[in-house]
Amino acid sequence: MISHETITGILKNYDKENITIGTIGSHSALQILKGARDEGFKTLAICKNNRKFVYERFHSADEIIGVSDYREILDDDFQNKLINKNLILVPHGSLVEYVGAKNIEEKFRVPLSGNRATLEWESDRNKEKKWFKEAGIKMPKEFKSPEEIDRLVIVKFPGARGGRGYFLVDHKVGFFKKIRSRGMEDEDYTIQEYITGTRFYPHYFYSPITGEVELMSMDIRYESNVDGLARTPHWAFKHYAPEPSYTVTGNFPVVIRESLLHKVLEMGDNVVFASKKLFPPGMTGPFCIEAICTDDLKFIAFEVSARIVAGTNLYIEGSPYSQILYNEPMSTGRRIAREIKIAIEKDMLNDVIY
Ligand code: AMP
Repeated sequence: MISHETITGILKNYDKENITIGTIGSHSALQILKGARDEGFKTLAICKNNRKFVYERFHSADEIIGVSDYREILDDDFQNKLINKNLILVPHGSLVEYVGAKNIEEKFRVPLSGNRATLEWESDRNKEKKWFKEAGIKMPKEFKSPEEIDRLVIVKFPGARGGRGYFLVDHKVGFFKKIRSRGMEDEDYTIQEYITGTRFYPHYFYSPITGEVELMSMDIRYESNVDGLARTPHWAFKHYAPEPSYTVTGNFPVVIRESLLHKVLEMGDNVVFASKKLFPPGMTGPFCIEAICTDDLKFIAFEVSARIVAGTNLYIEGSPYSQILYNEPMSTGRRIAREIKIAIEKDMLNDVIY
């Protein structure tokens, strides 16, 4: 991994009066760029040539650079160009998906907001498990082999693919049939107990400057086709038995019953605390825990996203929670830029940029 010393060495030469905040044109870029602009930074979007028009249409960035493949950002010349613009790049799910956590950690010398070591911890399911265990957060039971399946399970494939290709099954025979029909036998998969309950995806922000974990907002993902199945009458399933799938297509806003808020706050605190132990100095900035609340009001978490999540796009003007904390429109994107601004003022950039 590119060391923190290398990054701070690059940052040292940055003109702190003239920082540009940039991101990849996808995922939560509109929010990140607006937040950066609201905090007085110059902005830059790196877009696939065929998606540039989206960011132009929203007048999102002071500069838009087109690429034919996102991995072009790894080219030395490209990186130097970004560094010469005093660029701090905000990572998000599409960056991880299209460029790869390892490539970013090892080949991308441009300063990133947040600890780059986190990208590896959140994109590796075994590491993620270790992290939740250390944080004392309950996870769904996992089955090591299809032979062990003894209840309804969800079969997942790696990567930030937004639930694509997942399937449900309750027996090994069904497992082999379904995995073969998808041509996914050779892929890595995780077999996880399927939890019924209500989903909550709280969005947090941890500031090493204040030492506080802020609850910014929450969402529920809108997933196709599982969320559409509820609209199909029950009698239709006698003739038509569609397989539920979990491809994320959008997000719903949600607030949680206030008497459950302490559990949500504790989960966030524990995840940050555990990250400091597992990969010091730990996670900084935005993160999200994907959790299900069961009918006995227990939270079972199945994923941590240790960067901004797209569910925060609902709250460009702030959420009920961020409104209480800030009394001004404070999206997670804007909170990232605010942190960078405060870090520049306090000469603490090295604590938030890696
Ligand atoms: P993930 O890729 O882990 O974020 O999962 C995608 C979607 O699958 C989630 O948003 C949930 O709707 C569903 N899901 C994932 N894991 C579970 C689980 N263990 N039990 C029930 N639903 C799950």
